[in-house]
Amino acid sequence: MSRRLTGRVVIATHNAGKLTEMRELLAPFGIEAVSAGELGLLEPEETGTMFAENAAIKALAATQATGLPAFADDSGLCVDALDGAPGIFSARWAGPTKDFASAMARIASEMDRRGAQDRRAHFVSALVLAWPDGHTELFEGRVFGDLVEPRGSAGFGYDPIFRPDGHDRTFGEMTAEEKHGVDWQRGQGLSHRARAFVDLSRACLAPSA
Ligand code: IMP
Repeated sequence: MSRRLTGRVVIATHNAGKLTEMRELLAPFGIEAVSAGELGLLEPEETGTMFAENAAIKALAATQATGLPAFADDSGLCVDALDGAPGIFSARWAGPTKDFASAMARIASEMDRRGAQDRRAHFVSALVLAWPDGHTELFEGRVFGDLVEPRGSAGFGYDPIFRPDGHDRTFGEMTAEEKHGVDWQRGQGLSHRARAFVDLSRACLAPSA
């Protein structure tokens, strides 16, 4: 049985793009969300080897520091032809200046170097909700698609090179609503984060009256 979340929650991220998306997804649930950045929390070192481990590290650090329940998302882009890279290193490929144009160029050049024809990739989001007593809930979402030349300036990170299956446009060309693609009634989403969030919401959140 999953634990229900009410009241205030910390969103354990310093990533502005993720923070915006998580606030948008939380909006229908009447939860007051405050970010780790706003609270001045330090970013813990992500020492895990899997998305779920790193999400738990971030969520537990934030809940222990604040005494409030905390959400964390660890996510990334996994490229088939690069054996799943950049994967958990997706943020690190952009370097300290968070230069995603060069991170996207690095993906293209590593694929060229390998002579890769296979352009398949997927995004993963591991969402962990943690409580101060150490209880955690984990939800994972994936979205599969193809890599294309960068298109569009919406979203963040690797959005301009990712075209999800069944769509002509990249995430960088979609509105936030289209990228989430959430149908609360059917319990479906499009993006990896929205898919994980829809599962989390069904287990741990109640719609606000
Ligand atoms: P981390 O989870 O903080 O380690 O960082 C995940 C990184 O993966 C982000 O900085 C982005 O580079 C990338 N990423 C995760 N989700 C998305 C997304 O929805 N769109 C584009 N890039 C993403």
